[in-house]
Amino acid sequence: MSEKIYPICKFCGATFIPLKDMTAEEAETYALGQCDCEDAKEYRKKENNIRKLKLYIDDFENYCTSRDSKLTEEIKTIMLNSGRMIINNEIEAVNIKVSPINIKISMNSNGNIVLNFTYKDSKKTEVVWCLSLLLMKIKIRTYSHYW
Ligand SMILES: [Zn+2]
Repeated sequence: MSEKIYPICKFCGATFIPLKDMTAEEAETYALGQCDCEDAKEYRKKENNIRKLKLYIDDFENYCTSRDSKLTEEIKTIMLNSGRMIINNEIEAVNIKVSPINIKISMNSNGNIVLNFTYKDSKKTEVVWCLSLLLMKIKIRTYSHYW
């Protein structure tokens, strides 16, 4: 019989009762998801922000495709890496210009990662915000004006 693995918070050491047999990795994830200590909350917030960032980048890629612009793997990597640095408070915001699109990644006052971009051609300007009001949901507002 193998020894039972208990979920232990890696930050504060709180131990939780496992609901089922878990691997060491599952136990760690479970503890981080359950613990009420500040470090675990901070960790969950960062993980959520990284998940959102990835969704935003996917969504942005769809947007680019719909505008006949190709989002390269290199640019996606830059967006992901700089977004991670923002989430880790290493940098405040980044602007990436890939004409005709201007991308901005930043953090709002609630500590949520925000991606917004502006598409501009001779006929119109679109400002698109990817922001999450509900966890794991993307809300996009598009303002277009023609002149
Ligand atoms: Zn903890």
